Amino acid sequence: MKTTTPIVAAGLVAPAIAQYKPVVSSSELVKLVTTEELLQGATDLYDLAIANGGNRAFGSPGHNATVDYIYDALVETGFYDVYKQPFVELYEDAQVEFSVSGVEYDARYLQYSPSGDLDKPLVAVANVGCTAEDFPAPVANNIAFIQRGECSFSQKVANAKTAGAAGAIVYNNVNETLSGTLGGPGDWVPSASVEWAPGQAILAQLASSNSTTASLFINVISENRTTFNVIAETKEGDHNNVLAVGAHTDSVPAGPGINDDGSGTIGILTVAKHLANFSVKNAVRFAFWSAEEFGLLGSYHYLKTINGTLGGNATEVGKLRAYLNFDMIASPNYALGVYDGDGSAFNLSGPPGSEILEQDFVNFFAKLNKSVVPSEYSGRSDYAAFLDNGIPSGGVDTGAEGLKTAEEAAIFGGEAGVAYDVNYHLVGDTVDNLAMDAFLWNTQAIADAVAKYAVDFGSIPKPNHTVEAKKRNVEKTKLRRALDHVKPRLSGLGKRYGGCVHDVKTEL
Ligand SMILES: [Zn+2]
Repeated sequence: MKTTTPIVAAGLVAPAIAQYKPVVSSSELVKLVTTEELLQGATDLYDLAIANGGNRAFGSPGHNATVDYIYDALVETGFYDVYKQPFVELYEDAQVEFSVSGVEYDARYLQYSPSGDLDKPLVAVANVGCTAEDFPAPVANNIAFIQRGECSFSQKVANAKTAGAAGAIVYNNVNETLSGTLGGPGDWVPSASVEWAPGQAILAQLASSNSTTASLFINVISENRTTFNVIAETKEGDHNNVLAVGAHTDSVPAGPGINDDGSGTIGILTVAKHLANFSVKNAVRFAFWSAEEFGLLGSYHYLKTINGTLGGNATEVGKLRAYLNFDMIASPNYALGVYDGDGSAFNLSGPPGSEILEQDFVNFFAKLNKSVVPSEYSGRSDYAAFLDNGIPSGGVDTGAEGLKTAEEAAIFGGEAGVAYDVNYHLVGDTVDNLAMDAFLWNTQAIADAVAKYAVDFGSIPKPNHTVEAKKRNVEKTKLRRALDHVKPRLSGLGKRYGGCVHDVKTEL
């Protein structure tokens, strides 16, 4: 109808008055990143942790404040469609205090143990506590002290209960970190573990005294918590060919998590803000994952909502052309690591195209005149969910609890034989824990990659989303995780994993 003509005319006028923005280029976007803004962002997250009990664990006030901070910053740009994706997961944490004759020892929660508050004699169990005969009569009503080995923690603790024990401590039989589980909920007595060295010290205490009283306090928090991923996609650009960029927003309960992963969070948020000064050809989707530290929960939840697992449109996942992950990019004793997408260093490759993402990062650091080392593509961070879905993935990281090699110290400086991040998952992961030079270079690398793929995916192939391919990828990721679990013993020092989740619990 004719009456519509004036409206169409008015519509035609709008583009002419819209603000002109140049198409993004790597060099222009990289230039905008400054050390000052990265430090400010990290300080903001630290302040949120300190104002809320010292951590930003998922679903906590510190984490909810982090989610709001990110959401508000993205909305303010006007450049993105932003939403908070809610999901519910079980939050578990336990405070454990353990002392023997007044000497305090670090003890660790055995998952599924109940809370308890005991002041009782500690009684050593014979052998490894796998049979009823190992438990001497004095164990009754007291705390059993049991060596790890041969049978599951659940069997040892069940035997202790049958013998009448009020509680149980399992001490490690090897000199490496033990994170144990009773395997599932049950009628357990309060139980915890200690490492090898304190175990030996306690045995000596028991040997030198007739009656040794131990104090065991366990306070378990176990509750369903609602938490949020923040997803922001450019309003413009091709929404059928999307670059996804992610970092996790939660810390462990032990500390503020400013390198892990405040650094990745602020790195991608900073690039997202600067990207708003340009226009893009491919849509860019920034994803801020929650509950990574509890097993990559946010990223897996998100992928399930777009691949049809939870209903909805399964084709949504096929629109993702590549995923870039940034978890710990400013470790104080850093190595500059690039995920080993082609599997050349660790024989664990990603979906086709991952090798291109790796090479592009390597090329960028070469331009900065920086050497890089490969990081094992072990599925230890949120990219695992993307690998499972056949999406080419890449990223950079600077190392977690692994020890820096002499070779790496020669390349990057810092101290050989010392962890890349000595404050990994600890209260000391503060703003002071950041290597600001590595933080800047890695954020520049994010800017370079985002600008490049926002314009052109080049030779990165479209992902293969057939059911068979998906199954293969899921199997591969399981293998990665299994390998990740056994490899520290095999490969020793200098190992970096391309991520921060390490707490795979063992049943025996
Ligand atoms: Zn992390």
